[in-house]
Amino acid sequence: LTADARAGNIPRYVRVNTLKWTVEEAIATYKENGFELGDLSKPRQIAKDAHIPNLLIFPAQTSFQDDPAFISGRVILQDKASCFPAVVLAPPASDDACVIDATAAPGNKTSHLSALMRGKGTLIAFERDSRRFKTLKNMLAKAGCKNVSPRNADFLSTDPKDGAFANVTHILLDPSCSGSGIMNRLDHLLEAEREADKDQESARLAKLASFQLLMIRHAMKFPAVKKIVYSTCSVHVTEDECVVLQALKSSEATTHGFVLAPRTDVLPTWSRRGKRDIFLDNEAAESVVRCSPGEDATNGFFVSCFVRHEARKRKAE
Ligand code: SAM
Repeated sequence: LTADARAGNIPRYVRVNTLKWTVEEAIATYKENGFELGDLSKPRQIAKDAHIPNLLIFPAQTSFQDDPAFISGRVILQDKASCFPAVVLAPPASDDACVIDATAAPGNKTSHLSALMRGKGTLIAFERDSRRFKTLKNMLAKAGCKNVSPRNADFLSTDPKDGAFANVTHILLDPSCSGSGIMNRLDHLLEAEREADKDQESARLAKLASFQLLMIRHAMKFPAVKKIVYSTCSVHVTEDECVVLQALKSSEATTHGFVLAPRTDVLPTWSRRGKRDIFLDNEAAESVVRCSPGEDATNGFFVSCFVRHEARKRKAE
C-alpha cells in the first residue's frame, strides 16, 4: 500500500473499457500526457492493478473531468472492489451466451460484464427505478455496450420459467444495500445518526437483508442458471455472510443444488476473506471475499459466488 492508501485515500481506479480501447493503448496515451508506469510512489506515476485485468491505478487526486478517454467512454472510473463481481462471474464470450444483471444502474458492472463478453451474446439488464434506468441507458450508450438489453422492470417480478430466460446461465446480483462500505459518505455523520437509534438501524439492516435474500432465492429459480454472484458495498455481516448462509439453507439452494464456489474460483489471490465466526466453516469463509475500507485501498465490499452442484440436485427436481 502507498502512504496515500494507508491514510485512507483511495487511489483513482480507472477501468479500460475493452469494448473501445486496449490497456496498451491507454498506457501509451497516458504516457504521452506526462504519466509514467511505476508503483505510484511519485506524483505522476500510474500502475496496473494486480488483481483486475485492464484496471489502472492513478494517484487519488487525478482529475478525469476533461480527459477525452473518460468523456468518450474508453475508460470508466470504477472502484477496484466494484470490479470484483463481474470478474468472479466470468460470463462467457460467445454468441449464444445469455447473462442477467439483475440490478444494473448506474451500469458500471453491466458495462464491465459486456466487455468481458466481448459484446457477444445477450446481457439482460434489469433496473426497476425509472430515473436510474435513464442513467443506465446513457452509460451503456457511452460505453458502446451493444449486447445489452436494458429493461425498466423489477427483477423479482420476472417469471424464471419464461422462455426468454431459458438459456440464462449467469446472474449478477448487486442489490440495494446500506452502502456502509462507501468511504466518502461522511460516515462519521452517518455513524452519529446510527448511534442515535440503534434499534432503527438494525431494523433497517434486517429489512435490507430479507430483500437481498429474496433476490438470491429468485435467481436460483432460473432453470439453466449455473453461476450467481451476490455482492454488496456493505461491511455489515447482516447483509453479507448472514444472507449467504440463509441462501445456502433455502429450499431453492437445496432443490437446485447451489453451493458456494471454492476459493480457487473466487479471486484466490485476494487475501481478505469472509468472517469465520459467522460461517463456522473455514471453507465457506474462504469462499467469499471482503474488502475493508481504510485497509485495502478500496471501498468496503463483499462478494460471494453460488454455483450449481449437479450431484446435489434433488432427484425430485
Ligand atoms: N450494479 C450497479 C453498478 O455497478 O453500477 C449498482 C447497483 S445498485 C447497488 C442497486 C440497483 O438495483 C439500484 O439502482 C436499484 O434501483 C436497483 N434495484 C433494486 N431492487 C431491484 C429489483 N428488484 N429489480 C431491479 N432493480 C432493482
